[in-house]
Amino acid sequence: MQFESITSALKITKPLIISGPCSAETESQMITTAKQLAATGKVHALRAGIWKPRTRPGQFEGAGAEGLKWLVMAKEETGLPITTEVATAAHVEACLKAGVDILWIGARTTVNPFSVQEIADALKGVDIPVMIKNPVNPDIELWVGAFERLNRAGINKMSAIHRGFSSFEKGPFRNAPMWDLAIELKTRVPGIEMICDPSHIAGNRELIAMVSQKALDLDMAGLMIESHLNPDAAWSDAKQQVTPAVLAKIVEGLVVRTVSSDNKTFKDTLGLLREQIDQIDDEIMQKMASRMKISEKIGQYKKENNVTILQVNRWEEIVQTRAALGKAMGLDEGFTRDLLRLVHHESIQVQTKVMNKTEVKV
Ligand code: PEP
Ligand code: MN
Repeated sequence: MQFESITSALKITKPLIISGPCSAETESQMITTAKQLAATGKVHALRAGIWKPRTRPGQFEGAGAEGLKWLVMAKEETGLPITTEVATAAHVEACLKAGVDILWIGARTTVNPFSVQEIADALKGVDIPVMIKNPVNPDIELWVGAFERLNRAGINKMSAIHRGFSSFEKGPFRNAPMWDLAIELKTRVPGIEMICDPSHIAGNRELIAMVSQKALDLDMAGLMIESHLNPDAAWSDAKQQVTPAVLAKIVEGLVVRTVSSDNKTFKDTLGLLREQIDQIDDEIMQKMASRMKISEKIGQYKKENNVTILQVNRWEEIVQTRAALGKAMGLDEGFTRDLLRLVHHESIQVQTKVMNKTEVKV
């Protein structure tokens, strides 16, 4: 796929900051918010939801065509480019007609290839930047597929938005960040620029600064943060919106790091540390291979003695002793447990292979 990123299309020095209300609610809310955001001097583009995908019916579903006019007025008042979410061909057409500068595909749309294709078809022959949010569920293929569909339609200015994933386990976030999936997309769609949406990851304004910093530390190119004149009174996503003044403070507080440094001492030291990591990874792989060889022998032995592969007591004992050991050595307990789970899973696979092997006598 050949494409240009949104930051380069807009000629912006990173990090790109996109802000505005979750939803355009009224003309004055939209215009005043936009003016206050522009006055901070920290925002490169304005966002506002015009058609809102609400989980349950009966809630505010966006101002529609009327709201689109307010968003365009906000652009005229501030000179900032505007962006909104599109989910259907009709949304795309309305946005193109109104002069929206950047479109985005929402998380509830990226999950549906029919909808993504409908948007791609409506964009054939149009040159407009599009941002694609990750699907609500942690399925990277759907995300990659959406880029492919748009690219085939001729869209070549694209960026990804990481907004976290729905998860059964309730953690501190509204949507689990699963940072590794955002990183994986960068390898699956080489050259893709990643923008983080800390508002929808956090679901709570207190966590926005922390999530934003983490995103920049992972070399994300920008942030989309929801802001509202009076966040608590917002008609959608009230808990996660911040005032334009707080938004400016969050952006000011961010530390922007570079991917590398030309400083020679830095490069030499990093090189040495990386050599150590390579060496240790080598040892870990060798140990893992030895461990699996023993699992194979155990599988063979269990088979000869008609014993089951899984012995729950033994597994519990492994988890307890190793987790305690890891903790004593300063390792995160969750990490130790995840690692053990993976190793155990592979060990069972290896033993199952041995069990199922039928010796054919010739
Ligand atoms: C939004 O940006 O307001 C929105 C609905 O986001 P998401 O698609 O990430 O849920
Ligand atoms: Mn929102």
